[in-house]
Amino acid sequence: MNTTINEALELVGALVEGLDGSEVAQLIVCPPFPWLTPVSAALGNTSIEIGAQNCAVENKGAFTGEVSAQMLVSAGCTAVIVGHSERRSLYGEDNQTIAKKLRMAIDSGLTVIFCIGETLEERQSGRLETIIADQLISALGNCSNDDYQSIIIAYEPVWAIGTGLTATPEQAQEVHKFIRNKVESISSADVANAVSILYGGSCNATNATSIFSQPDIDGGLIGGASLKAADFLTIARSF
Ligand code: PEP
Repeated sequence: MNTTINEALELVGALVEGLDGSEVAQLIVCPPFPWLTPVSAALGNTSIEIGAQNCAVENKGAFTGEVSAQMLVSAGCTAVIVGHSERRSLYGEDNQTIAKKLRMAIDSGLTVIFCIGETLEERQSGRLETIIADQLISALGNCSNDDYQSIIIAYEPVWAIGTGLTATPEQAQEVHKFIRNKVESISSADVANAVSILYGGSCNATNATSIFSQPDIDGGLIGGASLKAADFLTIARSF
């Protein structure tokens, strides 16, 4: 819930202007709902894609205040974030709700940036792997191998989001490896090798290179640092 319309357009304008072709293969910006159409227009035919930060469980109808995956497609989105920890903790979205959103988004033709991650209490009490496995299995357990072409997984330790605390590259790598192995066990080795697993949580222009140098970290989900075009571009060039 950041930016006014003018700030969003200024930010995306600076991004477009700053692109020099050395950025990571796929760049997606996910502004708030009301800025999707104007930001999409500002992106024009650049390579930057546009996504939303959430979508509804339902497809259409009398669900006041909700925005469906189909509506996002019609607004020009190619992607949507599903299961962000703030949706889970502040808005009561459980694994079942998130699984329904993921299915709805894939069936609507969107790429899903599917977020998972443990709280500090869960990590410290030794439940990290159980939590991550539950989050993965409940959402991806019924996905076909084809579905994975529309799935990007984002590992975001809740204790690292917006806190300035970053997982060390080694801590992140350990969980990313666990995620890849778990995906292999519920799909196939080919799917697990091909799926992108992003790291998110206080990733910034200074720590991005060391985080992205890990073998199972394929990219980043960037919050606070994406609000400064120069920092976001530096991160996008840190591979
Ligand atoms: C986020 O909001 O998902 C996030 C990763 O934020 P930050 O980069 O600010 O920690």
